[in-house]
Amino acid sequence: MYDVKSLKAEEFISHEEILDTLKFAEENKENISLIRKILDKAKLKKGLSHREASVLLACEDKDIQDEIFLLAQKIKEYYYGKRIVMFAPLYLSNYCINGCVYCPYHKSSNGIVRRKLTQDEIRREVIALENIGHKRIAIEAGEDPVNNPIEYILESIKTIYSVHHKNGDIRRVNVNIAATTVENYRKLHDAGIGTYILFQETYHKESYEKLHPTGPKSNYAYHTEAMDRAMEGGIDDVGLGVLFGLEKYSYEFAGLLMHAEHLEAVHGVGPHTISMPRIRQAEGIDPDSFCNGISDDIFAKICAIIRIAVPYTGMIISTRESQSVRERVLKLGISQISGGSRTTVGGYETEEYEDDGSEQFDIIDRRSLDEVVQWLIQLGYIPSFCTACYREGRTGDRFMSLCKSGQISNCCHPNALMTLMEYLEDYASSETKNEGIKLIEKELMNIPSEKIRKIAGENIEKIKSGSRDFRF
Ligand code: SF4
Ligand code: SF4
Repeated sequence: MYDVKSLKAEEFISHEEILDTLKFAEENKENISLIRKILDKAKLKKGLSHREASVLLACEDKDIQDEIFLLAQKIKEYYYGKRIVMFAPLYLSNYCINGCVYCPYHKSSNGIVRRKLTQDEIRREVIALENIGHKRIAIEAGEDPVNNPIEYILESIKTIYSVHHKNGDIRRVNVNIAATTVENYRKLHDAGIGTYILFQETYHKESYEKLHPTGPKSNYAYHTEAMDRAMEGGIDDVGLGVLFGLEKYSYEFAGLLMHAEHLEAVHGVGPHTISMPRIRQAEGIDPDSFCNGISDDIFAKICAIIRIAVPYTGMIISTRESQSVRERVLKLGISQISGGSRTTVGGYETEEYEDDGSEQFDIIDRRSLDEVVQWLIQLGYIPSFCTACYREGRTGDRFMSLCKSGQISNCCHPNALMTLMEYLEDYASSETKNEGIKLIEKELMNIPSEKIRKIAGENIEKIKSGSRDFRF
């Protein structure tokens, strides 16, 4: 039985509720008066339920779809302005005891080179990341209690935060590791992590069990209930995601929104982010062998409706997607992107992109961080290296109340400009720097509060003279 507040996976992600939702959506996909009501509600910028959002997803009317895209753009602009937060993944270890059939790191994979970074190697990776300008990273590691125990992850986080190279420092470490215990989540919280990210992969229990035949991850309930344990362990910011292509997208979409509703209902705060990965080519993995792949058009539609349904939740897209797909969905809702990424273990030390056989998936967008930053500036976006909320203790409900009050534009916008100025001073090519400075001068005028505008302007001048790390 469906119960949004239940702590049991099969009750808050009820299979029957998802099937009913999809039936309701199918029956109403041409019900224009209902769709109009849903769109009117969406215009209030407070979100939609999984049922309402599923009706929009099922609707194939071209005019309605155009309206959805336009509304998603408006909502994105309202909450996020032109800012795009930058991050990079850091692969610590690809040892893994799970049997996920879509991932080249699975236990019986023969084609993969297994690697685990030592603390010295992590230091060198962090220096390489700091040398190109990153301030926010997401660490990734397979599940392996012998090779990657929680102590290794905690030590690695400590190492990462301790490396300060020239003007560089990593100011926020997000963590993407396997579902674990409340006690371990508490340790991660105490280690000062940003967001805990865990992809559900698929909400469809039967498919989940087929796709995860062996290893601890094969336990659907333990995996699905991980975010509740993380929150119980004190982690305020959690990041959801499904791997689109494993199951029918409409099923995953409803499950994802039900998960977000569950977190809000139980913990008073929804997911901090939703990641949008699609299944990709990798060593020994052929994406065509998964029959639920989605087209770029459907992918864009899903992004737009998620933006409308959970307006306060950040949306992330990685370098798995091409430049053109990334450009399309940036408009529709994506607020965070990776740039200059390496998905190999130890990949940042070598300057040129190189797959040594330890890669998790093929990178499609292989541009350098500077190229991505310049591209964003040319599109009129403000690449942001801001980590202020986390460092000011504005996490969980404190972050959400700031976001819901609309005051974030007096915070995020100046923080984006100040951190971009740091990037331009320390890491940008001269072309990127020239274009970035023009953008900053123009965008300073768009800070609503006169007082904050003045302080931000002064701080930007101080950054030009060598000071660093200002934030609101
Ligand atoms: S998806 Fe994660 S848990 Fe599964 S095999 Fe890959 S690294 Fe291991
Ligand atoms: S001020 Fe907070 S919400 Fe805004 S970009 Fe910075 S960290 Fe993110």
